[in-house]
Amino acid sequence: MTKRVAFVTGGNGGIGSAICRELAKQGHSVVAGYFPPEKESAEAWQKQMHDEGFAIGLAAVDVSSFEDCERAVAEIGDEFGSVDILVNCAGITRDGTLKKMPEANWKAVISTNLDSAFNVTRHVVNGMLDKGWGRIINIASVNGQRGQFGQANYSAAKAGMHGFTMAVALETAAKGITVNTVSPGYIATAMTEAMPEEVLQSIVNSVPMRRMGKPEEIANTVAWLASEENAYTTGANIPVNGGLFTSH
Ligand code: NDP
Repeated sequence: MTKRVAFVTGGNGGIGSAICRELAKQGHSVVAGYFPPEKESAEAWQKQMHDEGFAIGLAAVDVSSFEDCERAVAEIGDEFGSVDILVNCAGITRDGTLKKMPEANWKAVISTNLDSAFNVTRHVVNGMLDKGWGRIINIASVNGQRGQFGQANYSAAKAGMHGFTMAVALETAAKGITVNTVSPGYIATAMTEAMPEEVLQSIVNSVPMRRMGKPEEIANTVAWLASEENAYTTGANIPVNGGLFTSH
C-alpha cells in the first residue's frame, strides 16, 4: 500500500487516539494535532503511543485560529510532507438551552467545531489538488443530524460541517479527492464520561444496540474512508451510531 501523511486534529482525544492508532496500523505517517496549552499532556500521550508501538508525530494547533492552522500545516509539511489524509476531529461542547446560552458558548463551539473545518482544510486542500490525491474526513455527530436539547450551538456546528463536506466534495471530486463526514452516536470517551450517570444510562437505553460505541468503531470507518479503495464515496455522511438515528 502507499504510505500517506495523515493529520488528525484533536488526535490526542478519545476518538482521535483511536483514529491515530488505526491509521498508523495501516502504515501511514500520522501526526496528531493538539491544543497548544496542553503541550505537557500531549507529550505524555505521545510517549504512551510510543510505548504501545505507534510512532505518532505531534503538532500544536489551535483549530479555531485560521493563522495558527496556516502555521501548523506549513510546519507539518516541512517535517513530514504535505498532508494526504486530513481528519478534522477536534471538538468541544458547551451545552445549555438557547434561552440561557451565553454568546461566548455559541462562539466557542462554532469556532472550534465548524470554523476549524475551514481553517485547517483551506491550508491542506491545495496540496491535495496539486498531488491529485486526498482524503478529508470530518467528524460531526448524530446531534448534527437530528438536533439535541441543550445543544443548539453543537448541533448547528455539526450540521454545518456536513454542508462543508458536501460542497468541498463537489469542488474536489474530479481531482482524486474524497470528502466525507462521519457522524458518531454516543461514544465512550472523556467527552461523554463527563455526563451524569443517570443521563448516560438513559442514553444507553435509547440506543437500539443498548450500548455506547467504542472509539475504535469510529476509527475503522475513518480508516476505510481514508483508504486507496475508497475512491468513489464522496460527499457522504456515514452514521456510526448503533441505530440511534437512521435516515435516507
Ligand atoms: P475529546 O474531548 O476526547 O477530544 C477532543 C479533542 O479536541 C481533544 O484532543 C481536545 O484537546 C481537542 N481540542 C479542543 N479544542 C481544540 C482547539 N481549539 N484546537 C485544537 N484542538 C482542540 O472528545 P472525543 O474524542 O469524544 O470527540 C472527538 C470528536 O468527535 C469531536 O469533534 C466530537 O464533537 C465528536 N463526537 C464525539 C462523540 C462522543 O460521544 N464522544 C459523539 C459524536 C461526535 P484538549 O483535550 O487538549 O483540549
